[in-house]
Amino acid sequence: MKETQYIWQNGKLIDWKDATTHVLSHGLHYGTGVFEGIRAYETHKGPAIFRLEDHYKRLLNSAKIIQMPIPYSVNHFIEATTDLIIKNKLKSCYIRPLCYFGYGEMGLNPQNNPVDTIIAAWEWGTYLGEEGLKKGIRCKISSWARLDSRISPPLAKSTANYLNSALAKREALACGFDEAILLNTNGTIAEGPGENIFMVKDNCLFTTHAADNALLGITANTIKIIAKNLNIPVIEKPIIRDELFIADELFFTGTAAEVTPIREIDGRIIGSGQRGHITEKIQQTYFDITSGKNKSYPEWLHFI
Ligand code: PMP
Repeated sequence: MKETQYIWQNGKLIDWKDATTHVLSHGLHYGTGVFEGIRAYETHKGPAIFRLEDHYKRLLNSAKIIQMPIPYSVNHFIEATTDLIIKNKLKSCYIRPLCYFGYGEMGLNPQNNPVDTIIAAWEWGTYLGEEGLKKGIRCKISSWARLDSRISPPLAKSTANYLNSALAKREALACGFDEAILLNTNGTIAEGPGENIFMVKDNCLFTTHAADNALLGITANTIKIIAKNLNIPVIEKPIIRDELFIADELFFTGTAAEVTPIREIDGRIIGSGQRGHITEKIQQTYFDITSGKNKSYPEWLHFI
């Protein structure tokens, strides 16, 4: 991890090395936290944060779902994030806001514990590799099922949910794959450990629905809008594993993963075994937007 000088903690910028927490913090023991992953891209007008407001709206929604009171507004978060990037002199970065129940009482009820908030930002390259972006990655259908809303709320980006993701990721890597794909408890496709999934079949784009228990990805929302504007029909529906095997093209989306093609699942070659044409077109449009070259969506870039 590439360290920067400052981390924002509870309203103040402090040195990276001083951004510590008590070992009896509630969130550390019980996973009672919510977080975001945001990217800022280098553009000819300086760093631009992609869909910043939408990420903080989702953070507040995650907090609402887990009943965590957050003492900051979206605007407050936006100001703090902008300041952090300026003070750390970053041109492009990954941004990680996290709110968690802190040190106070032990026991499962977090209600009397303070809510601690941090925002960190650092340089972070491609999540699934440069080669993955061009050639596609190999995936394994996980033996771990994606949690559902009777178990732990899938629409909350809560720290607790990421044990599920981490187990799936480790299993996939241990089996020699690049990434996992999780089914939900109904047996249909949910998502990757940190990515939403899209399928191309007969020139239409298919993806999951909220009821399939995937996180409502901001990149996925972006891709649906891009696709519609490229006249590619977008259909949200439950998808079964077999449909992935016989898809023309598949790709993951996510703030970290961006738009990453999938070329193989459990020994089945997907389509041509390379990045498909529609995937490439969507991926190129996505990078043109995030880098400020495509100016069709000015509301998505927050210039610093
Ligand atoms: N699903 C999960 C489980 C994730 O962690 C992420 C990353 N936040 C995504 C999907 C993609 O969401 P987004 O496009 O908003 O980054």
